[in-house]
Amino acid sequence: MAVFANIHRHLLAEGTVDPRQVHIPPALPSRELLCLVHSPEYVDAFCSGTLDQQRMRRIGFGEVTRSQTLIDRTLAEVAGTLLTAELALEHGLACNTAGGTHHAFRDYGSGFCIINDLAVTAEVLLRQGRASRVLILDVDVHQGDGTAHIFSGRQDVFTLSVHAASNFPARKQTSHLDVALPDGTGDNAFCAAVAEALTGVLQTFRPDLVLYDAGVDPHQDDALGRLSLTDDGLRRRELLARVLDSCLGAGIPVAGYVGGGYHADLEVLAARHCWLHRAAAALWHDYRL
Ligand SMILES: [Zn+2]
Repeated sequence: MAVFANIHRHLLAEGTVDPRQVHIPPALPSRELLCLVHSPEYVDAFCSGTLDQQRMRRIGFGEVTRSQTLIDRTLAEVAGTLLTAELALEHGLACNTAGGTHHAFRDYGSGFCIINDLAVTAEVLLRQGRASRVLILDVDVHQGDGTAHIFSGRQDVFTLSVHAASNFPARKQTSHLDVALPDGTGDNAFCAAVAEALTGVLQTFRPDLVLYDAGVDPHQDDALGRLSLTDDGLRRRELLARVLDSCLGAGIPVAGYVGGGYHADLEVLAARHCWLHRAAAALWHDYRL
Protein backbone atom coordinates (compact mmCIF):
# COMPACT_ATOMS: atom_id res chain seq x y z
CA MET A 1 0.00 0.00 0.00
CA ALA A 2 1.47 3.27 -1.15
CA VAL A 3 0.29 5.11 1.94
CA PHE A 4 2.74 3.23 4.18
CA ALA A 5 5.71 4.36 2.10
CA ASN A 6 4.27 7.88 2.15
CA ILE A 7 4.14 7.84 5.96
CA HIS A 8 7.80 6.81 6.09
CA ARG A 9 8.76 9.56 3.64
CA HIS A 10 6.69 12.21 5.48
CA LEU A 11 8.28 11.38 8.83
CA LEU A 12 11.80 11.66 7.47
CA ALA A 13 11.07 14.81 5.44
CA GLU A 14 9.52 16.70 8.34
CA GLY A 15 12.26 15.58 10.75
CA THR A 16 9.97 13.69 13.13
CA VAL A 17 12.14 10.63 12.62
CA ASP A 18 15.90 10.37 12.16
CA PRO A 19 17.05 7.71 9.63
CA ARG A 20 18.96 6.03 12.46
CA GLN A 21 15.64 5.46 14.25
CA VAL A 22 14.21 3.44 11.37
CA HIS A 23 14.30 -0.34 11.80
CA ILE A 24 13.50 -2.95 9.15
CA PRO A 25 12.49 -6.52 10.09
CA PRO A 26 15.35 -8.90 9.34
CA ALA A 27 13.09 -11.75 8.12
CA LEU A 28 9.52 -12.73 7.37
CA PRO A 29 7.63 -14.61 10.12
CA SER A 30 7.72 -18.39 10.10
CA ARG A 31 4.70 -20.61 9.50
CA GLU A 32 4.99 -21.80 13.10
CA LEU A 33 4.69 -18.26 14.37
CA LEU A 34 1.60 -17.47 12.26
CA CYS A 35 -0.01 -20.72 13.41
CA LEU A 36 0.10 -19.58 17.03
CA VAL A 37 -3.01 -17.57 16.12
CA HIS A 38 -4.28 -18.81 12.75
CA SER A 39 -5.23 -22.31 11.66
CA PRO A 40 -2.51 -24.14 9.70
CA GLU A 41 -5.01 -24.71 6.88
CA TYR A 42 -5.65 -20.96 6.51
CA VAL A 43 -1.97 -20.04 6.77
CA ASP A 44 -1.00 -22.61 4.14
CA ALA A 45 -3.82 -21.64 1.77
CA PHE A 46 -2.92 -17.96 1.95
CA CYS A 47 0.84 -18.38 1.80
CA SER A 48 0.63 -20.76 -1.17
CA GLY A 49 -1.67 -18.45 -3.12
CA THR A 50 -4.52 -20.96 -3.14
CA LEU A 51 -7.08 -19.25 -0.91
CA ASP A 52 -10.66 -20.04 -1.97
CA GLN A 53 -12.94 -17.47 -3.63
CA GLN A 54 -15.26 -17.14 -0.65
CA ARG A 55 -12.48 -16.15 1.74
CA MET A 56 -10.86 -13.88 -0.86
CA ARG A 57 -14.17 -12.04 -1.26
CA ARG A 58 -14.44 -11.55 2.48
CA ILE A 59 -10.95 -10.02 2.63
CA GLY A 60 -11.83 -7.59 -0.17
CA PHE A 61 -8.65 -7.46 -2.25
CA GLY A 62 -9.91 -9.79 -5.03
CA GLU A 63 -7.56 -11.96 -7.10
CA VAL A 64 -4.53 -9.97 -5.96
CA THR A 65 -4.86 -11.81 -2.63
CA ARG A 66 -3.17 -14.77 -4.34
CA SER A 67 -0.27 -12.70 -5.66
CA GLN A 68 3.21 -13.16 -4.24
CA THR A 69 3.45 -9.39 -3.83
CA LEU A 70 0.50 -9.25 -1.46
CA ILE A 71 1.58 -12.42 0.36
CA ASP A 72 5.04 -10.96 0.98
CA ARG A 73 3.64 -7.57 1.97
CA THR A 74 1.23 -9.16 4.44
CA LEU A 75 3.98 -11.22 6.06
CA ALA A 76 6.31 -8.21 6.16
CA GLU A 77 3.62 -6.30 8.03
CA VAL A 78 3.44 -9.03 10.68
CA ALA A 79 7.23 -9.00 11.02
CA GLY A 80 7.17 -5.21 11.40
CA THR A 81 4.45 -5.33 14.03
CA LEU A 82 6.39 -7.87 16.07
CA LEU A 83 9.63 -5.92 15.70
CA THR A 84 7.86 -2.73 16.83
CA ALA A 85 6.64 -4.47 20.00
CA GLU A 86 10.12 -5.86 20.67
CA LEU A 87 11.59 -2.37 20.29
CA ALA A 88 8.91 -0.99 22.61
CA LEU A 89 9.83 -3.56 25.25
CA GLU A 90 13.48 -2.59 24.87
CA HIS A 91 13.13 1.19 24.68
CA GLY A 92 9.67 1.97 26.13
CA LEU A 93 8.10 3.26 22.93
CA ALA A 94 8.15 2.37 19.24
CA CYS A 95 5.82 2.94 16.30
CA ASN A 96 5.28 1.14 13.03
CA THR A 97 4.48 2.81 9.71
CA ALA A 98 1.87 0.09 9.10
CA GLY A 99 0.07 -2.55 11.17
CA GLY A 100 -3.25 -3.07 12.88
CA THR A 101 -5.01 -5.70 10.73
CA HIS A 102 -7.63 -6.28 13.39
CA HIS A 103 -10.44 -7.81 11.29
CA ALA A 104 -8.52 -11.06 10.66
CA PHE A 105 -9.94 -14.12 12.45
CA ARG A 106 -8.34 -17.49 13.10
CA ASP A 107 -9.62 -19.17 9.91
CA TYR A 108 -10.33 -16.28 7.59
CA GLY A 109 -9.59 -12.65 6.85
CA SER A 110 -12.06 -9.78 6.60
CA GLY A 111 -12.22 -6.07 5.81
CA PHE A 112 -8.82 -5.83 4.05
CA CYS A 113 -7.14 -7.75 6.90
CA ILE A 114 -5.55 -11.16 6.24
CA ILE A 115 -3.25 -12.03 9.14
CA ASN A 116 -3.96 -10.51 12.57
CA ASP A 117 -0.56 -8.96 13.25
CA LEU A 118 -1.58 -7.65 16.67
CA ALA A 119 -2.75 -11.07 17.82
CA VAL A 120 0.33 -12.85 16.48
CA THR A 121 2.60 -10.35 18.19
CA ALA A 122 0.81 -10.61 21.54
CA GLU A 123 0.82 -14.40 21.38
CA VAL A 124 4.52 -14.63 20.48
CA LEU A 125 5.61 -12.34 23.30
CA LEU A 126 3.40 -14.11 25.85
CA ARG A 127 4.69 -17.55 24.80
CA GLN A 128 8.27 -16.31 24.99
CA GLY A 129 7.67 -14.89 28.47
CA ARG A 130 8.63 -11.41 27.33
CA ALA A 131 5.22 -10.08 28.37
CA SER A 132 2.66 -11.46 30.78
CA ARG A 133 -0.31 -9.11 30.36
CA VAL A 134 -0.91 -7.44 27.02
CA LEU A 135 -3.47 -4.71 26.40
CA ILE A 136 -4.58 -4.34 22.79
CA LEU A 137 -5.99 -0.83 22.63
CA ASP A 138 -7.91 -0.27 19.41
CA VAL A 139 -9.27 3.20 18.62
CA ASP A 140 -9.76 2.60 14.89
CA VAL A 141 -13.31 3.61 13.93
CA HIS A 142 -14.15 -0.04 13.20
CA GLN A 143 -14.44 -2.58 16.00
CA GLY A 144 -11.40 -4.88 16.34
CA ASP A 145 -13.64 -7.89 15.88
CA GLY A 146 -10.99 -10.43 14.82
CA THR A 147 -8.76 -9.55 17.75
CA ALA A 148 -11.69 -9.68 20.18
CA HIS A 149 -12.73 -13.12 18.92
CA ILE A 150 -9.20 -14.57 18.99
CA PHE A 151 -8.65 -13.51 22.60
CA SER A 152 -12.16 -14.11 23.90
CA GLY A 153 -12.05 -15.48 27.42
CA ARG A 154 -8.31 -14.95 27.83
CA GLN A 155 -6.99 -13.54 31.09
CA ASP A 156 -3.55 -12.53 29.81
CA VAL A 157 -4.77 -10.35 26.93
CA PHE A 158 -7.24 -7.49 27.30
CA THR A 159 -8.97 -6.21 24.16
CA LEU A 160 -10.31 -2.65 24.37
CA SER A 161 -12.08 -1.30 21.30
CA VAL A 162 -13.42 2.25 20.94
CA HIS A 163 -15.38 2.45 17.68
CA ALA A 164 -18.43 3.77 15.82
CA ALA A 165 -21.44 1.67 16.84
CA SER A 166 -23.07 1.70 13.39
CA ASN A 167 -19.94 1.05 11.33
CA PHE A 168 -18.41 -2.17 9.92
CA PRO A 169 -18.48 -4.93 11.05
CA ALA A 170 -22.27 -5.27 11.13
CA ARG A 171 -21.95 -8.25 13.47
CA LYS A 172 -19.76 -7.16 16.36
CA GLN A 173 -17.75 -9.50 18.55
CA THR A 174 -17.37 -9.01 22.29
CA SER A 175 -14.10 -7.42 23.38
CA HIS A 176 -13.09 -7.41 27.02
CA LEU A 177 -14.33 -3.80 26.86
CA ASP A 178 -16.21 -2.20 23.97
CA VAL A 179 -16.97 1.51 23.81
CA ALA A 180 -19.45 2.00 20.96
CA LEU A 181 -19.93 5.64 19.98
CA PRO A 182 -22.85 7.21 18.08
CA ASP A 183 -22.42 8.62 14.56
CA GLY A 184 -21.00 12.12 14.50
CA THR A 185 -19.11 11.85 17.78
CA GLY A 186 -16.63 14.74 17.85
CA ASP A 187 -13.23 15.49 19.33
CA ASN A 188 -14.18 16.14 22.94
CA ALA A 189 -16.55 13.20 23.40
CA PHE A 190 -14.19 10.80 21.61
CA CYS A 191 -11.11 11.83 23.59
CA ALA A 192 -13.07 11.70 26.85
CA ALA A 193 -14.35 8.21 26.05
CA VAL A 194 -10.86 6.93 25.25
CA ALA A 195 -9.33 8.53 28.33
CA GLU A 196 -12.00 7.15 30.67
CA ALA A 197 -11.81 3.61 29.28
CA LEU A 198 -8.03 3.52 29.18
CA THR A 199 -7.60 4.90 32.69
CA GLY A 200 -9.85 2.21 34.08
CA VAL A 201 -8.16 -0.63 32.20
CA LEU A 202 -4.65 0.49 33.16
CA GLN A 203 -5.71 0.42 36.81
CA THR A 204 -7.58 -2.87 36.80
CA PHE A 205 -5.74 -5.00 34.19
CA ARG A 206 -2.25 -3.55 34.76
CA PRO A 207 -0.69 -4.55 31.42
CA ASP A 208 3.05 -4.81 30.95
CA LEU A 209 2.77 -4.02 27.23
CA VAL A 210 0.27 -2.01 25.17
CA LEU A 211 -0.28 -2.66 21.48
CA TYR A 212 -2.00 0.48 20.24
CA ASP A 213 -4.00 0.48 16.98
CA ALA A 214 -4.26 4.20 16.20
CA GLY A 215 -6.50 4.10 13.11
CA VAL A 216 -7.23 7.56 11.74
CA ASP A 217 -10.59 6.62 10.24
CA PRO A 218 -12.55 8.35 13.04
CA HIS A 219 -11.59 11.55 11.12
CA GLN A 220 -14.53 13.61 9.82
CA ASP A 221 -13.29 13.41 6.21
CA ASP A 222 -12.57 9.67 6.20
CA ALA A 223 -14.32 7.78 3.41
CA LEU A 224 -15.33 4.88 5.68
CA GLY A 225 -15.69 6.55 9.08
CA ARG A 226 -18.85 7.85 10.68
CA LEU A 227 -17.34 9.95 13.42
CA SER A 228 -16.30 13.59 13.29
CA LEU A 229 -12.79 14.00 14.62
CA THR A 230 -10.70 16.88 13.28
CA ASP A 231 -6.93 16.90 12.77
CA ASP A 232 -6.73 18.59 16.14
CA GLY A 233 -8.85 15.82 17.63
CA LEU A 234 -6.44 13.16 16.35
CA ARG A 235 -3.53 15.07 17.87
CA ARG A 236 -5.39 15.40 21.15
CA ARG A 237 -6.26 11.70 21.09
CA GLU A 238 -2.59 10.86 21.36
CA LEU A 239 -1.68 13.59 23.83
CA LEU A 240 -4.58 15.12 25.76
CA ALA A 241 -6.61 11.90 25.80
CA ARG A 242 -3.31 10.56 27.04
CA VAL A 243 -3.33 7.37 25.04
CA LEU A 244 0.43 7.38 24.87
CA ASP A 245 1.06 9.61 27.86
CA SER A 246 -1.05 7.52 30.25
CA CYS A 247 0.80 4.34 29.40
CA LEU A 248 4.27 5.84 29.46
CA GLY A 249 3.46 7.70 32.68
CA ALA A 250 2.60 4.37 34.26
CA GLY A 251 5.87 2.90 32.99
CA ILE A 252 4.16 0.63 30.47
CA PRO A 253 5.85 0.17 27.06
CA VAL A 254 3.72 1.14 24.06
CA ALA A 255 3.93 -0.13 20.50
CA GLY A 256 1.92 2.06 18.11
CA TYR A 257 0.39 0.99 14.80
CA VAL A 258 -1.23 3.17 12.15
CA GLY A 259 -4.44 1.12 11.71
CA GLY A 260 -7.12 2.13 9.21
CA GLY A 261 -7.54 5.33 7.24
CA TYR A 262 -9.32 5.97 3.96
CA HIS A 263 -8.92 9.03 1.72
CA ALA A 264 -8.50 9.42 -2.02
CA ASP A 265 -5.45 11.64 -1.55
CA LEU A 266 -2.74 9.44 -0.05
CA GLU A 267 -0.60 12.45 0.86
CA VAL A 268 -3.42 13.81 3.02
CA LEU A 269 -3.91 10.37 4.54
CA ALA A 270 -0.21 9.87 5.27
CA ALA A 271 -0.01 13.25 6.99
CA ARG A 272 -2.98 12.23 9.13
CA HIS A 273 -1.34 8.95 10.17
CA CYS A 274 1.82 10.84 11.15
CA TRP A 275 0.09 12.34 14.20
CA LEU A 276 0.83 9.09 16.01
CA HIS A 277 4.54 9.35 15.31
CA ARG A 278 4.68 13.09 16.04
CA ALA A 279 3.06 12.53 19.44
CA ALA A 280 5.39 9.61 20.10
CA ALA A 281 8.45 11.68 19.16
CA ALA A 282 7.40 14.47 21.52
CA LEU A 283 6.86 12.05 24.39
CA TRP A 284 10.12 10.25 23.57
CA HIS A 285 11.91 13.48 24.48
CA ASP A 286 9.66 14.31 27.45
CA TYR A 287 10.23 10.91 29.04
CA ARG A 288 13.92 10.80 28.03
CA LEU A 289 13.50 7.33 26.58
ZN1 LIG B 1 -10.85 1.00 10.41
